[in-house]
Amino acid sequence: MKTLFNYNNFIELEHRYGAHDYHPLPVVLERGEGVYLWDVDGNKYFDFLSAYSAVNQGHCHPRIVKILQNQANILTLTSRAFHNNKLGDYMKYVTEYFDFERVLPMNTGAEGVETAIKLARKWGYTKKKIPQNKAQIIVCYNNFHGRTTTIISFSSDKGSKDNFGPHATGFISIPFDDIEALEVVLERNPNVAGFLLEPVQGEAGVYTPEPDFIQKAKALCHKYNVLLIADEIQTGIGRTGSLLAVCGSCDCSGHCEKKEATYVRPDLLILGKAISGGTYPVSAVLCDANIMDVIQPGQHGSTFGGNPMACAVAKEALEVIRDEKLTQNARLLGNRFRAKMQHYINESDVVLSIRGRGLLNAIVINDIEESDTAWNICLKLKDCGLLAKPTHGNIIRFAPPLVITEDQLDECITIIINVLKTFEP
Ligand SMILES: *Cc1c(COP(=O)(O)O)cnc(C)c1O
Repeated sequence: MKTLFNYNNFIELEHRYGAHDYHPLPVVLERGEGVYLWDVDGNKYFDFLSAYSAVNQGHCHPRIVKILQNQANILTLTSRAFHNNKLGDYMKYVTEYFDFERVLPMNTGAEGVETAIKLARKWGYTKKKIPQNKAQIIVCYNNFHGRTTTIISFSSDKGSKDNFGPHATGFISIPFDDIEALEVVLERNPNVAGFLLEPVQGEAGVYTPEPDFIQKAKALCHKYNVLLIADEIQTGIGRTGSLLAVCGSCDCSGHCEKKEATYVRPDLLILGKAISGGTYPVSAVLCDANIMDVIQPGQHGSTFGGNPMACAVAKEALEVIRDEKLTQNARLLGNRFRAKMQHYINESDVVLSIRGRGLLNAIVINDIEESDTAWNICLKLKDCGLLAKPTHGNIIRFAPPLVITEDQLDECITIIINVLKTFEP
């Protein structure tokens, strides 16, 4: 490792002047390209976090950056007080891409989730005729949907929630992947408007449900006239080897003719992160007109939502996913990654298991949650040229950009296994 700069200067500045709301790995990055990142000393790393799956298309994708630069020279923001010449085109593109009738553009993921909650509630009052202020939304334990005051109200993570009350009401938590619990709550509560879930729980540690869980959940939602709300901010846009994780094992990208049995269409779809390829904050909620049209002028919005930069960038970022077949790549290389890692894990005392779908995977370290083994493994991985971060004390997520090649992946597997070997007893 080269050390030209005193890393501590950069890190100390952040620590001295910034809020201490993150605990980053001690690496100071200055450049990115594809699967690679470089620190201020010129050391090169494989990125195995992809900014929490925002950079599925790889760092600084030339097509996306070019569109961003061009649009920045022409028009950046009009607000929605006026029309702009990019918004309609993007709305047509994104709704056709994901097979929904309408889209509501926002900026951050958390805003997307807030938007979906508002839509579900208003639909509940106006269409399902739930009595005023009685609407409930079912959520899952160990969810991660963002950081707003409403969203943390239904988090089960003490650190995210404690001392930030009073908490918002109107949410019922059930265990993830528990279809019986879902049915019990739906049977007992006529005022449920929606069931909000991550098809794979990313932040919790990449928990994948039973293959038919989402299908069954959708059927129950249909039976009880409840909206299925899929938060695909992390899992969507190719990450799990299908365009959406709710597509299950169908790689139709959500709009094939055959619509295989595993394809589940959520009533509300929330996207963020990779919808811009990590270049710009863009999020979106998609649904059909019977739901979206409950919102009337003045009832929701955002100054930056649907701005021309966001529209131009998001369209190009989605086009890159399709043109470069990144969904298929995630599927193939994800299978390869898990198979090769499993081969090692069979003989390992340090790693208990690997789980995941596509290129969203995690290994479980054989230690207690409170241990620092996973953190220390990540420090060592960094020294060997690969950046990953624990999601919890003993879980490490591996989520490289989807542009990674087979050769690069094999090189990374070698790095990871060599580092893990040094932690074997
Ligand atoms: C990242 C994430 C969010 C929040 O997105 P922000 O852009 O950080 O507000 C919400 N849901 C899921 C599943 C996420 O991974």
